[in-house]
Amino acid sequence: MIDTHSHVYEEEMPNYKEIIEECKNKDISMIINGVDNKSNKEIVDLANEYDNVYPAIGLNYDQIDYFDDKDLEDLEELIKSNNVVALGEIGLDYYWTKENSEKQVYFFKKQLELAKKYDLPVIVHSRKASQEVFDIIKESGVRKGSMHCYSGSVEMAKEFIKLGFKIGIDGPITYSNNVKGIELVKEIPLEYLLLETDSPYLAPEPNRGLQNSPLNLIYIAEKIAEIKGISADEVIEKATKNAKELFNL
Ligand SMILES: [Zn+2]
Repeated sequence: MIDTHSHVYEEEMPNYKEIIEECKNKDISMIINGVDNKSNKEIVDLANEYDNVYPAIGLNYDQIDYFDDKDLEDLEELIKSNNVVALGEIGLDYYWTKENSEKQVYFFKKQLELAKKYDLPVIVHSRKASQEVFDIIKESGVRKGSMHCYSGSVEMAKEFIKLGFKIGIDGPITYSNNVKGIELVKEIPLEYLLLETDSPYLAPEPNRGLQNSPLNLIYIAEKIAEIKGISADEVIEKATKNAKELFNL
């Protein structure tokens, strides 16, 4: 199994090394996503240490006020000197504030340019910004990536798929009354879905409210299987294939 979106590093999870080792014993790999160059650096080091860790690096919205062009230069250096599998997580978030939207857009566009330059997929965070994210990606020419923890409409998901993107499904699919999520999983063929946890956040049932980890990926696969009326093994097999193809693992 491959968790295509997690934050299993020191700042987010003090027990990150135990988790990575336990996952290794259970044949679970993970793409760990950075949010700034401190976490990005930590993640590429982890990937050198553990063969079940793949690094995705990026400058994410929540630190945006502190970033400048030097961060983009440092990011590019990290891409050049390491076996990075994706630019991520990157994107736009207008849930908390729209005041810094200009700067968010600037960094999103710059990182899409880097993805294009180094022929890497992107892992995109989008909240309250679906249409703008779509327009910016379309214009950028980037044609591979994942819409991480996708929460938009089925119609929009289909538009992202047409652009060459896959749709990340996380723990909230297991929450009761997630009508929108269930509709999405029903409508979108398995070949376009990815399994991800966003650890340490968004733990699925039956571990909701606890620290999340890639060990919980199975509950997401089981829920997708239930919705689609197929076996969890089939979900895992196809989602693993999707992840391997997209991120060239
Ligand atoms: Zn994330």
